[in-house]
Amino acid sequence: MYLKSIEVQGFKSFANKMKFQFHNGITGIVGPNGSGKSNVADAVRWVLGEQSAKQLRGANMQDVIFSGTENRKPLGFASVAITLDNSDHQLPTDYSEVTVTRRLYRSGESEYQINGTNCRLRDIQELFYDTGIGKEGYSIIGQGQIDKILSGKPEERRELFDEAAGIVKFKRRKLTTQKKLEDENNNLTRVRDILSEIT
Ligand code: ATP
Repeated sequence: MYLKSIEVQGFKSFANKMKFQFHNGITGIVGPNGSGKSNVADAVRWVLGEQSAKQLRGANMQDVIFSGTENRKPLGFASVAITLDNSDHQLPTDYSEVTVTRRLYRSGESEYQINGTNCRLRDIQELFYDTGIGKEGYSIIGQGQIDKILSGKPEERRELFDEAAGIVKFKRRKLTTQKKLEDENNNLTRVRDILSEIT
């Protein structure tokens, strides 16, 4: 699996529709300070479901929408689409190419899509569990993140190992099942109470 392209429109400094195409091997992005290099990494982080404006170096989520320049009006929405080669089927889907899209309007309305079909944020998160690519993954190492990992709590470091070992999805399923069991136990207690009242 590898990142084939990133398409941005109205995202941060990228007002016009623009496509970055990547090939096998190493790609470097170079440019003067403030030209938008980090905005490319932010775009990937965002499309994978980042919900924290702070992680995207903004005060609120609307800050990712192109806010205008001296010669250009602000735009009404931001859109990012990444396309991954999935011919090795590392992502749990039959498609050999997967495009994930996120769009945010100034009104606050947002959309997520997998291969052009609307989906929930959760579907995107589940698609990337245990691949190292998701929002919690380690495929994007931001400035200062290595220090944070090394000086972080053991439980936080453990999360990285869980992701690499491919057990995150099982842990999440276990939590969901435990919650269901708890709810069912509460229901049972309620039924027993009612039964004891009427017998
Ligand atoms: P450096 O080399 O200093 O780290 P960089 O190339 O990584 O810089 P970025 O931090 O990616 O640059 O981009 C910063 C630029 O993006 C700034 O000029 C900022 O004004 C612009 N920018 C950020 N958000 C928006 C937005 N919502 N609308 C328009 N421009 C934006």
